[in-house]
Amino acid sequence: MSQHGREQHWDLVVVGAGPAGSAAALGALHQRPGSKVLLLDRADFPRDKVCGDGVAPHALDVLETVGVTGLLDDWPVAPRLRISVVGAPGVPVVEEAMSRPAQVVPRAVLDERLVRAAVERGAVLRRARVRDVLQDGAGVGVVLSDGEVVRGRIAVGADGAHSEVRRALGPAVVPPQRRGTTAIAVRAYAPVLPQHEGVQVLAFSEDTDRPSYAWSFPVGDGRANVGFGQLVDSRSSAGTAPTRARLLERLEELLPGTTAGAEQVAGHPLPLSTGRSGVWSVGRVLLAGDAASLVNPVTGEGIYYAVLSGVLAGRAALGGGRYDRMLGEALVGHLRHTDLAARLVRSDRLLHAALRASARDTGVFDDVADIGLARGRLTSRVVRGMGRALLAG
Ligand SMILES: Cc1cc2nc3c(=O)[nH]c(=O)nc-3n(C[C@H](O)[C@H](O)[C@H](O)COP(=O)(O)OP(=O)(O)OC[C@H]3O[C@@H](n4cnc5c(N)ncnc54)[C@H](O)[C@@H]3O)c2cc1C
Repeated sequence: MSQHGREQHWDLVVVGAGPAGSAAALGALHQRPGSKVLLLDRADFPRDKVCGDGVAPHALDVLETVGVTGLLDDWPVAPRLRISVVGAPGVPVVEEAMSRPAQVVPRAVLDERLVRAAVERGAVLRRARVRDVLQDGAGVGVVLSDGEVVRGRIAVGADGAHSEVRRALGPAVVPPQRRGTTAIAVRAYAPVLPQHEGVQVLAFSEDTDRPSYAWSFPVGDGRANVGFGQLVDSRSSAGTAPTRARLLERLEELLPGTTAGAEQVAGHPLPLSTGRSGVWSVGRVLLAGDAASLVNPVTGEGIYYAVLSGVLAGRAALGGGRYDRMLGEALVGHLRHTDLAARLVRSDRLLHAALRASARDTGVFDDVADIGLARGRLTSRVVRGMGRALLAG
């Protein structure tokens, strides 16, 4: 799927056509139908993206606000969520039906559908690698790898974890690396184990630095997306990224059997929101998704944040408000809670208490799942439940 897109001047140039970029195009075209929106990506679609493939239903809610409905209606749902701490005797394995289950959709499918939705509404998709962005009084020049400069009135950087656009914006949006702000994860597709059929499985470890966990998410076609992720700068990795082989070993230790027959094994970094600068735009360039370090620091979920920030960036770009203010209002309260939750799960006692409280009260379970998926907060129900679990020992 590719179109030429060699216009001279665009209302909006979006760099990267993952969920954040497609959502930005959709937001812009919803805000002002008929505007000239160029979507640049170095890859041709469909393309794979290393991911756990869990799509929070909240991402679909956001897409509905820009007129994209029924995007995943044909896709199966794995309704249950199981959370355990491996190697912690006495701590319950919690398993419940999720009040609003996430769907497990390979990114080759999801991202292609999103790109198609944007193109159907008028965005022009062009395959090109971007290497720089330059701003002047008249707008933004997006520099491609062959030296061509594409001009837009405004640009959105949605080019993922290794964002060139973010780099081009300089130190205001690239804060110094702080401990605990980047994770690395390996993912593979493997035949789903019978005990993991229909269940999204998260297994924390008692003996490594958290946040880190192994997962098995059933795709619905006999395969599961399986993986393991941990902080790059955790105590055990002493500032170096663990190897892919080591991450796979950890996955197999926590969820034995999951790596048998594994294919498409690949690793990728996750820029966690604990490392956000809080500056999401500079002049006429706005950042969205992973390029803006918007990945949940407890679970590594990033698709919801990519879609939300993308839609807001696209709307703001076409006159629908001030991006930093809109994104701040939508996310900052939640992000403060996820910052705190990421610190809490480092403590064995608090993680155990959260599981005990979730096992006792499905309301607590739902609230905990929501903190990891999208908008949730450490509600008074969670705090009270954990307090009771701590007192009960
Ligand atoms: C192993 C792993 C598991 C994960 N599991 C989940 C999960 O289960 N659920 C969830 O919600 N999130 C998960 N995430 C996070 C999620 O993958 C990201 O948050 C999400 O992909 C962010 O979307 P994005 O559009 O910002 O970036 P991306 O999806 O990375 O898209 C960026 C796009 O930009 C393009 N691009 C990059 N550089 C350039 C350039 N210079 N020029 C032109 N194009 C460029 C790329 O080709 C790509 O298409 C996981 C991440 C990892 C690594």
